[in-house]
Amino acid sequence: MADGSKRIAIFGGTFNPPHEGHVACVRIALAEFGDVIDRVLVMPSAAAYYKGAADVPALARLEMCKAAFAGMEGVEVSDLDIRRGGTTFTVDTLADVKAAYPEAGRPIFILGTDSYASLPKWKDADVLAREATFLVIPREDARTDGYWGIGEDACTARSAHPGFDTLFARETAPMVSSTELRERLARGESAIERIPEAVLCYIRRLNLYGSAEHMKTDVNVFSGEFLEARRQELLARVGEHRYAHIIGVAETAKSLAKAYGVDEDKAYLAGLLHDWDKAYDDEGIRARADELGLAIREDVYWGSPQTLHGITAAAWFAREYPDIPADVLQAVARHTTGAPDMSPLDMVIFIADALEPGRHFEGLDALRAQVGKEDLEELFISVEAYWISLIVQRKKTLHPDTFAVWNHYAVRHRERLIAEGKHPDKGPGDWSFKPADALEA
Ligand code: ATP
Repeated sequence: MADGSKRIAIFGGTFNPPHEGHVACVRIALAEFGDVIDRVLVMPSAAAYYKGAADVPALARLEMCKAAFAGMEGVEVSDLDIRRGGTTFTVDTLADVKAAYPEAGRPIFILGTDSYASLPKWKDADVLAREATFLVIPREDARTDGYWGIGEDACTARSAHPGFDTLFARETAPMVSSTELRERLARGESAIERIPEAVLCYIRRLNLYGSAEHMKTDVNVFSGEFLEARRQELLARVGEHRYAHIIGVAETAKSLAKAYGVDEDKAYLAGLLHDWDKAYDDEGIRARADELGLAIREDVYWGSPQTLHGITAAAWFAREYPDIPADVLQAVARHTTGAPDMSPLDMVIFIADALEPGRHFEGLDALRAQVGKEDLEELFISVEAYWISLIVQRKKTLHPDTFAVWNHYAVRHRERLIAEGKHPDKGPGDWSFKPADALEA
C-alpha cells in the first residue's frame, strides 16, 4: 500500500479498444516516474463524457484492458469508474481513488497530449488542479501538430496549462488511436499490429467492431445439412429429454416468427442452438466462460452460473461458425434473462422457450392462446411475468438483470395503456395461473 511517499497513478480512458499506445503510456510513466509512482490503476470509463456512450459494453473494455496489461508489474486494471456507473468524470474518479486509498499521496493522472489539451474544460477543473498532478505522455505526432508547436522543446513547463500541476514525459508514445483501429477492424484488415495479441483474440471472438464479418467461411448455416449435423451433436450433448425441448423451441420459434413477421429460418436456428451449453454443471459452465474469455460479473459467475449457458453458447458459436448471423447469436445469448431493447427475434426465442409444447405448467395454455392476438412485445411481457412468478413461486433465485428487464418493459406497458386511455392498474389479469393475484390479496 502506498504510504504517501509513493503515489497512485490513474490512467483513465475509454479503451475502446486498448492498444499499443496505451501500453506505451503506462510503460513510459513507470520508466520515467517510477520513483514517485507506487502503482498505476488502468481505469476504463463507464461511459465517456466527450465521446458519448462507448459502443462496446464497459465489462468487455475492462476485460480487454486486463488482457492488454496482463503481467505488467505495478499495474492494476480497476473497475472503479465502471462500478460507479453513469458518465465518468475525472473529478469523481479522484474522489473514489482517495476513498479507496486514503493513505496514498496526491494522485497522478496519466493522460496523452490530446486529452491534456482540453483539460481546463473538464468538469470541476479547479478541483482537478487543486487535487491531482497530471502526467502528460506525448503522442508521436504531438510535437508537430500545432498544439505543442515548439519542436524538441515540447516537454517543458512552458506548455503546461497555468494552475495545473503538470509533469511531462520525455519519451513519446506511438501514434495510435482507438478510433482508427475500430475503423480498420470494421474493414477487416488483418494486420492490426497495434493491438496486443490477446486483445485482438478477444475482439475477434466477440465480433466486436464488426471484425468477424470478414471471417466468414461460406458455410450455409441454414442448409438442411448444417442443421441436421447440429441436431445430431445436440442429441449427444444434452440427452433425449432436453433434445425434445430444444426441437420444440425451434419449431415453436419458427411458427411464432411466421405469426409476427420475423425471419423464420433465423428463428429456427436460434431455437436449435439456444440450449447448446445446457449440459454443463456449475463448475463446467464457469470453466466454459473462462475458456471463452467472457467478462462475467462476479455475483452471476458464482451465484447463478447456470444462467450463463446462453452467453457461452453464443460466444462459442461466434468463434466456431462465424457465418451464423450476429442477430441469431444475440437471441441465443439473451434467451435466459432477456434484455432491455430486445429485438423481435430475441423475443421470439424467449417466448418459444416458455411456450413450446413439451412444457405442461398450469396456465401456459392461456398464454399460448394469446399468440397472434397480442402484439409481440405484449406477449413477451405476459410470458416474462409468468416466468418470473414461476421462479419466485418455486423459491429459486432470479438473475439480477431480470429486474432491469422487467422494469423496462413494465414502464413501456403502462405508458402504452395510459396512451390508450386505459387504467394501467387493471392489467390483462385473465390467466388461470394466479400467483400474482395471491400476492396482491
Ligand atoms: P480515440 O481514438 O477514440 O480518441 P484513444 O486512442 O485516444 O481513443 P482513449 O481510451 O480515449 O484512447 O485514451 C485514454 C488515454 O490515453 C487518453 O489520455 C489519451 O490521450 C491517451 N492516449 C491514447 N492513445 C495514445 C497515444 N498513442 N499516445 C499517447 N497517449 C495516448
